[in-house]
This record gives sequence, structure tokens and C-alpha cells, in this order.
Amino acid sequence: MLVVMKAQATPEQIQAVCEAIEGLGYRAHPMPGAERTAIGITGNKGEVERGNLESLPGVSEVIRVTKAYKLASRDVKEEDTVVRFAGTDAAIGGKELAIVAGPCSIESREQAFTIASKVVAAGAQFFRGGAFKPRTSPYAFQGLGLEALRIMAEIREQFGLRIVTEALDTESLEQVAEWADVIQIGARNMQNFSLLKKAGRLRKPVLVKRGLSATLDEFLMSAEYVMSEGNYQVILCERGVRTFADHARNTLDLSIIPALKKVSHLPILIDPSHGTGRRDSVLPMARAAVAAGADGVMVEVHNHPEAALSDGPQSIFPDQFAGMMNELEQIAPVVGRTLTRGIRVSVEA
Ligand code: PEP
Ligand code: MN
Repeated sequence: MLVVMKAQATPEQIQAVCEAIEGLGYRAHPMPGAERTAIGITGNKGEVERGNLESLPGVSEVIRVTKAYKLASRDVKEEDTVVRFAGTDAAIGGKELAIVAGPCSIESREQAFTIASKVVAAGAQFFRGGAFKPRTSPYAFQGLGLEALRIMAEIREQFGLRIVTEALDTESLEQVAEWADVIQIGARNMQNFSLLKKAGRLRKPVLVKRGLSATLDEFLMSAEYVMSEGNYQVILCERGVRTFADHARNTLDLSIIPALKKVSHLPILIDPSHGTGRRDSVLPMARAAVAAGADGVMVEVHNHPEAALSDGPQSIFPDQFAGMMNELEQIAPVVGRTLTRGIRVSVEA
């Protein structure tokens, strides 16, 4: 159920409606929009008892949301969500493309700083790097953990780049929330509902990667788990799905971009690195992603991919990343977007 407020409704009236909803035993999710505020109602087992909601001051109408995902849907919020980063001009969503780049895993301070200096020079706003790695083999490199988080915090300090890194479980979630700017929930954890709920109780942006065989609805329901706990700063990320095709590690499903944009207001990033698993496919798919309407890309970059401790074959060289930025900068205006290089951090941040 959704309470649509009148355009001229006052903050007090919105507050009173939220209180009335909570008084009925439900949860209220006010979603301010350009024209008016809509208040999503969750926590109901069946049909919401409307009570006197419709007659409260400032209420325009009370409507049923039939989709399984509510807060992630455009029914509740028509305008695109833009996730912003306090004290900077960085954003994910909106007209400006967001570029996230960095190694699959943080392997050492030197490796991380070398790559960070290259991606910042080419104009990225976000630095990615795994501290806690979900590896298929228990014998493969599992990540440097807290040490990697500390290195990335230093990178933020030195270069201004905002940090995106994965939380693997509830333990690492707390650490990632403390040190990073965006909490990544990996493909394998997309349906780890208790982890999603815990991330939803935090007030940091959460990047949810699409599961290896998740449908669009399942993907959005994972975002809904985070939002249902009151954290509306959710970013989606398509990273390829499993198919019969064996020319690539995964099949990057760019067709999900327009499909998602139609039903959801959440921003969507494309990860052509995991999406293809092949260095030579990253650039073509990044171009296509922007052309198809993605809000940005997340790519793996490594200075010595042949020696990388994870995902070397899909990591592009820093020079290739710089070339990619040049091309995306040219493609962006064709589809009504802009790519402004770098991140501006205000002094008081
Ligand atoms: C990653 O981005 O480092 C990662 C492990 O991705 P995914 O969860 O999509 O496999
Ligand atoms: Mn990787």
C-alpha cells in the first residue's frame, strides 16, 4: 500500500501520516519526490487496514502496490534515485556516469596505491578492491581483511576516491561499514537475506550484485530487503549470469538495463569484468553498457594482471582503463549523459 501525499503537504502532515501508519502496526517509508512525497507501507501480512489514512490532512490518495517489490518500484518513487556522497560531488545515478575501478583484490599497499594512482589520473570517482573475497576454492587467496580496509581508507585520504568493497558475512559487514563508503553484497550473497537485512539497518549505500542465476524480480527483491529496513541508498549491479555459452565466464545481460529502468528507480552499474571474464571483452561491453543506459561501470584494473592473486585474466591494464574513459566520455553525450572526470572533495568533508 502506498499513501500519496498532496504536492503542498507539509512536513508535519507527512510526519502525522507516518505516525498513523506505525500506529496501525506497520512500517512507514516516506519517499520524497520532485512533485510530492509518497509513503510506502510495509510490514503488513495481507491487505493493509486503511484506517482513516485517506482522510488525514495532506493525503491525496491511498493506492495498492501490486508488485512484490514496493520500495524499489517506480510506483512508490517515480524519479530516479541518486546516491550521493557527503562532502563530494560524486554520485551514482542521475545524469553523471559513475566509474568504479580497481583491482579484484587488495594484495598489498604498494599494489593498491599503484593502481589507485592510475585510476584517479584517468578520472575514476570510486575505487574498488576486495578485502574479503568469496572464492570458489578454500585454498585460493581469501583477501587481506582488515589490513585491506585500512589501505583503502588511506587511498580515500590521499586521492579522494570513495571506496567500494564487499562484505562477505555479518562479521565483515561491520568492518566494511566502518571503513568503506559503499558496502558491496556479492553475487553469491544476493539471496543471503539476513545479510541484506543487516545491511538495511546501516545508513551507508549498499551495492547489490545480481546473483548468478537471479531473475529481475529476484534481483529487485534483494534490493527490497535492504530498503525494507529503512536504507534506501541501494545501487544495483549486473555482473553476468550463468548460461550455456562458454565463450565467456558469464553472459553479461545488458538487456536487464532497460527492463530495470522501466520498473525501478534504483541506479544500475554494469560490471563487464565479471560479466565476461575476459580482458578483451571488457571495453566493448563497457561501451555497450553506457549506450544501453547504465548509470556507470565497475571494472577491474591491475598493474600486473599476470601476477594477480584473483581475476587476472579479466583485469585490464591501467592504460586500457584510460582508453576506456576516453571512449565512454564520447559515448555519454550521445545518450544524454556526461562523464566528468575525477571527484571533488570539499575541505570540510
Ligand atoms: C567482486 O566484485 O569482486 C566479486 C567477487 O563480484 P561477484 O560477486 O559479482 O562475483
Ligand atoms: Mn573479481
